[in-house]
Amino acid sequence: MCDSRDTKLALKNGLRSRCPKCGEGKLFQSYLKVKASCDACGLDLTPQRADDGPAYVVILLVCHIAGVAMHLMYKPFLDNPLVPALIISLGAVALSLAMLPPVKGAFVAMQWAKGMHGFGKAKPAS
Ligand SMILES: [Zn+2]
Repeated sequence: MCDSRDTKLALKNGLRSRCPKCGEGKLFQSYLKVKASCDACGLDLTPQRADDGPAYVVILLVCHIAGVAMHLMYKPFLDNPLVPALIISLGAVALSLAMLPPVKGAFVAMQWAKGMHGFGKAKPAS
């Protein structure tokens, strides 16, 4: 039985919030709630264990972007520091909320592609 899983394609599908296997069915039933199974191919998605991983990655990326923004806005807004604080804070929240679903999709896709947790590959018949 051939059970090859294309990691790049799965990640691409996951970043689009689509099923990592077929790329057709939606991955989420609500904002971050993963569906029990794919509507298109029937892949069981309950074995996913993304946990806090997506939030960690999003915080890591957004804080680096916010750090660069603070550096760039320091001199122009030296007289009024509340303006960049407000812009950076709102931007960080908006960017975090926008990035969470695709990053979680990528986590689920990577777990499926690598056969992690309950996504384990079928064992050859012995
Ligand atoms: Zn599918």
